[in-house]
Amino acid sequence: MNLNHQVEKKLKTSRQRNLILCVIRSTHCHPTADWIFERARKDMPNISLGTIYRNLNLLRDEGKIQELRFGNSVSRYDGDLRSHYHVRCMECGEVVDVPHIVPLVSSQQVEELTGYRIHKHRLEFTGLCPDCLKRLDNIE
Ligand SMILES: [Zn+2]
Ligand SMILES: [Zn+2]
Repeated sequence: MNLNHQVEKKLKTSRQRNLILCVIRSTHCHPTADWIFERARKDMPNISLGTIYRNLNLLRDEGKIQELRFGNSVSRYDGDLRSHYHVRCMECGEVVDVPHIVPLVSSQQVEELTGYRIHKHRLEFTGLCPDCLKRLDNIE
């Protein structure tokens, strides 16, 4: 492979990574890899789902995005790196941020109570979103 080829390949790789990062940062819906794939394809029709997954793992390892895992369901991705809580709808799977005005539990307090050195903490609320509540109300 000649030098030009290598440079081109590097450029393509970083363009793909930037696009994926942009897609994630442009939304608050905590998208899945499939959702990111559909969006990214509009700008780069040749991008593959495998490329999406590879870059999502890289971006996560670099600390540029958060991977959210909820039980057995597929991972979702979050471009907001601040500590914040999520609430997930048990019916449709939607995930939204709990507004930052809700205070976070203090890691320091947990350290004092348990003797652990806390690395991170996550808290997930589950329930029914307003849309599903409305829909279920109409069925009854
Ligand atoms: Zn819902
Ligand atoms: Zn979030």
